[in-house]
Amino acid sequence: MPKTSSKTNPARELVFGDLWEYDPAPETADPKLKKRYDLFINGSFVAPQAGKYFPTINPANETKIADIALADAADVNSACIAAQKAFVGVWGKMPGKERGKYLYRIARLLQDHAREFAIAETLDGGKPIKESRDFDIPMAAAHFFYHAGWADKLEHLAPGRKVAPHGVVGQVIPWNFPLLMLAWKIAPALAAGNCVVLKPAETTSITALKFGEICQEAGLPNGVVNIVSGAAETGAAVIIHPLTTKVAFTGSTEVGKSIMRSLAGTDKKMTLELGGKAANIVFDDAPLDQAVEGIVNGIFFNQGHVCCAGSRLLVQESVADAVLAKLKRRIAVLRVGDPMDKNTDLGAINSREQLAKITDLVKSGVEEGAEKCDNGCKLPAKGFFFRPTIFTNVSMSHRIAREEIFGPVLSILTFRTPEEAVEKANNTPYGLSAGVWTDKGSRILKLSTQLKAGVVWANTYNKFDPTSPFGGFKESGFGREGGKQGMLDYLSVG
Ligand code: NDP
Repeated sequence: MPKTSSKTNPARELVFGDLWEYDPAPETADPKLKKRYDLFINGSFVAPQAGKYFPTINPANETKIADIALADAADVNSACIAAQKAFVGVWGKMPGKERGKYLYRIARLLQDHAREFAIAETLDGGKPIKESRDFDIPMAAAHFFYHAGWADKLEHLAPGRKVAPHGVVGQVIPWNFPLLMLAWKIAPALAAGNCVVLKPAETTSITALKFGEICQEAGLPNGVVNIVSGAAETGAAVIIHPLTTKVAFTGSTEVGKSIMRSLAGTDKKMTLELGGKAANIVFDDAPLDQAVEGIVNGIFFNQGHVCCAGSRLLVQESVADAVLAKLKRRIAVLRVGDPMDKNTDLGAINSREQLAKITDLVKSGVEEGAEKCDNGCKLPAKGFFFRPTIFTNVSMSHRIAREEIFGPVLSILTFRTPEEAVEKANNTPYGLSAGVWTDKGSRILKLSTQLKAGVVWANTYNKFDPTSPFGGFKESGFGREGGKQGMLDYLSVG
């Protein structure tokens, strides 16, 4: 082997600038949007039967992006019939191995179109481009990849028992993670052999309808996936339609309860993923700098429009001042503004209604005696924006400690003992998620069983994986999405 020395073979200079181009800021790539989006029924884009459309706007500048078809009960009926025909004629009897190939194809196509989808998601929903680009879209593709693997292994979900798809599944999703929630719903349903009729949220229908284009490109048999955009009435029509044998809903607890009432007495299967008011608990032995990053990520990710957001910080009294000082310093440098700029930390609030709801709850916090602190940054003149805000001096009875704000607002409470932390964390009608920050493994294990929450993160927050089941207790709903448990919710086990 020839000898080399630093003299004869000097280390080459690394010039990264020559190796790749940086993304522009703000983002300029073409999201390939249409001016008008029709319903995706039976493999084609069709106009709504009543001919009605509604505008969807960019919440960051209040300009109209496109007209979206408004599906009524007749359109939902056509979609359900198409789904039933596809289930009986093709999808329900297709070998799992073949179904899996379609899911893999969809996953790869989502990757191919990732940039376009990320921009469309950010324009329509207001979330920062770095989140749609690095989280929402890759995670949506990951869900299709993961569930593609299950399609030919269904018998391993319940060994020794027979599993069968339900048939037509009605799915209604919210606006906070539009494409990702679609993936959480559609990927397991299809892997299990079901066909779907999905209603996206009114303010964020574009990526769901673009997903119809992906289904076409993947050559998915007609009717396997149907997307019916529209209002609350459209969602209600999907849920009560006689052909939907299973209903999967993500959204507010209030609507979840009304869905339960409307389905009482039917034999439809149901999974509900509803609201939350998670406690993010910081003990005095926690690595405080890491914990502060976890607190920031827990509440300000996606402007706090996250059902599992760590919206109640429970901090041990002995480190409360230190944590608060670090948190204030961190919040001071958070950037609020143009969601298309990759340097933006908090983008636009999803809608005027949501901004009004956040403003109202923040006002109640001040009126009830809590102490408000925000980062005082300048907000854009147009669009819906809210500064990252923290409240101290919060008591358990305050509305900001009890109600889901669904915005960038953190309520800080203190505790002295682990027992008090658990008591306060569980003192809520919700039970979706929690976070624990401590150096002690034994404490993590103990708390994870004591906290009444579907997900408990330890020394981290807001971490998701398609293999890991997600779902709630109490008024946060029931059923799981992701992992083996999520697959089982799309099958009947004989
Ligand atoms: P909703 O529960 O009202 O909406 C969720 C989805 O359900 C949307 O597609 C919505 O349609 C649809 N929908 C509304 N009413 C009905 C109905 N009666 N039957 C069937 N479908 C219906 O949530 P919002 O979007 O209005 O948000 C309100 C609050 O809900 C938020 O502030 C937050 O607290 C919570 N929320 C929780 C989420 C979670 O992930 N757990 C997600 C989103 C919201 P449309 O968009 O047309 O209204």
